[in-house]
Amino acid sequence: MKEIEGKKTLLRAIPGVDELLKDPHLSAPLTEHGAGVVTEAVRKALDELRSGVLNGTVSEVAEGGIMAMVLSSIASLSRPSIRKVINATGTIIHTNIGRAMLCSEAAEAVRIAALSNTNLEFDLASGGRGERDVHVEELIKRLTGAEAATVVNNNAAAVLLTLNTLAESKEVIVSRGELIEIGGSFRLPEIIKKSGCVMREVGTTNRTHPADYLSAITPDTALIFKAHTSNYRVVGFTAGVSLSELAVLGKKHSVPVVEDLGSGSLVDLASYDLPDEPVAGESIRAGADIITFSGDKLLGGPQAGIIAGKKELIDMIRRNPLKRAVRADKLTLAGLEATLRLYLDPARVASRLPTLRYMTRGLGEIEAVAMKAAELLRAFLGEGFTVSVEPGESVVGAGAMPGRHIPTKVIAVSHATHGPDEIAARFLSAKPPVIGRIHRDRFILDMRTIDDASDVVPSS
Ligand SMILES: *Cc1c(COP(=O)(O)O)cnc(C)c1O
Repeated sequence: MKEIEGKKTLLRAIPGVDELLKDPHLSAPLTEHGAGVVTEAVRKALDELRSGVLNGTVSEVAEGGIMAMVLSSIASLSRPSIRKVINATGTIIHTNIGRAMLCSEAAEAVRIAALSNTNLEFDLASGGRGERDVHVEELIKRLTGAEAATVVNNNAAAVLLTLNTLAESKEVIVSRGELIEIGGSFRLPEIIKKSGCVMREVGTTNRTHPADYLSAITPDTALIFKAHTSNYRVVGFTAGVSLSELAVLGKKHSVPVVEDLGSGSLVDLASYDLPDEPVAGESIRAGADIITFSGDKLLGGPQAGIIAGKKELIDMIRRNPLKRAVRADKLTLAGLEATLRLYLDPARVASRLPTLRYMTRGLGEIEAVAMKAAELLRAFLGEGFTVSVEPGESVVGAGAMPGRHIPTKVIAVSHATHGPDEIAARFLSAKPPVIGRIHRDRFILDMRTIDDASDVVPSS
C-alpha cells in the first residue's frame, strides 16, 4: 500500500506537457527546432518518466532531471539519421558505408543539380523536350567503345531491365559456375526469374565448355548471359568459356551475348600494379552485345547501373516501360557525368578520383599519415592505451578482386584492461564515428583511406 501511495505522489509531481513547454530552458530549442520536435521530446521524456515510476526504476522526480531528459531527447530527434562516418575498415569500397566517395567535381555537380533546375530532359538547342541519357551517353561510348548506352538506378536494375527487355518468356543460357549471389539478396537465378525469363543452366560448377552452350541453343533461346564471378573464385580443375568464344557462338546463332561485369573498371588496373578486374572496353571489344556494370564500385561514382552495347538493343531497352521505373535521377546523372569526365584524362584520373587514389596510394604516404595519427591518438587516449603502427592488408571490396590484398599500414589500439570490442565501441561513439575492425583480437584502423590524421581521433 505504501509503495502504491509513493508512486502516486511521484506521478503527481510530474509536470504537464504545457507547463514544461513554458520552461525558459526550452525557449532556445523551440526557436532552433520548432514546436513539433520540442513537444515530441517533452512527451517522450514524460512518458519515460511515468513508466519509470510505475516499474519502480525511478524513485524521485526532479525538475533538473526532467529537463536533462528532454534536452537529450531533442538532440536525438533532431540529429540526421544519415551521418558522416570515417572509413578505417580497410575495405576501400564498403557497401555498408555507401561504397564510393565522390570526387569533388561530382559533388559540385550534384550540388548544382540539387539546388537548381537543369536541362535534364530539355534540349537547349531546340527549346524542346530532350533525353536524360544524353548527358552521359557520349562519355560512356567514348570510354567503353560501345555504340550506345543508358543509365539506371543500379547494376541490379541494369541486369533486370536488360533480361526483361531481351528475353522475357524466353530462355537465358548461363553457366552453372556463374550463378552468383551478391550480398543483399541479389541472386542471379532469382533475378532471371523475376525478369520473366527461363534460366537454362549449362555445364557444371567448376567446368563449362563451348559445346555445353552450343547444345543448349534452341529456337527458345533469347540470350547468352555471362556474369563476372565478382566475389568468389573457382580454382583447381576448372574451365570456363571466354566472352570472345561466346560472342562468336552468339553471332553464328543470332543470339545476343550479355555480360554482367559487376564492378566494371574503366581503366586497366594492372597498369597500377593492382590485380586484374574486367575492363568495360575490353568486353565490348571481345564482342559482348550488352554489358552492365555499377557506377559506385570501381568506377568511383554515384550509385548507378550502366548498360552499354549495340544501339539496336539499347534502343529496345530504353523503350521498355520498366525503364521508367528504374531510371537514374538528376543527381545521379550529374554526379556520374562529372565522374566520367575525369576518365577523359587517364594520366590524372587515379589522383583525382578517391576510390582509385586510395587503391593506388603509396605505402610511404599511408605510413606518414599513420605515424601522425598514432601520435595524436597517444596524446588523446592517454594512460593505459598502446598505439602502434604496423603493416596490414586492405581489400578493394564491393566484390572486386576477391581474395586479393593490398599492403597497407594500420594502427593497432589496445588497452591493459579494456578489450577490443570496448575500444571499437568508443571509436564508434565518436563524432563522426570512426569505423575500424577487430583483427586477431585487436582493434585496428587501416590508414589507406584516411587523408587527415585527425579524422581517426575519437573526439566527441
Ligand atoms: C555488385 C554486383 C551486382 C549488383 O550491382 P549493384 O550496383 O549493387 O546493384 C550485380 N552483379 C555483379 C556481378 C556484381 O558484382
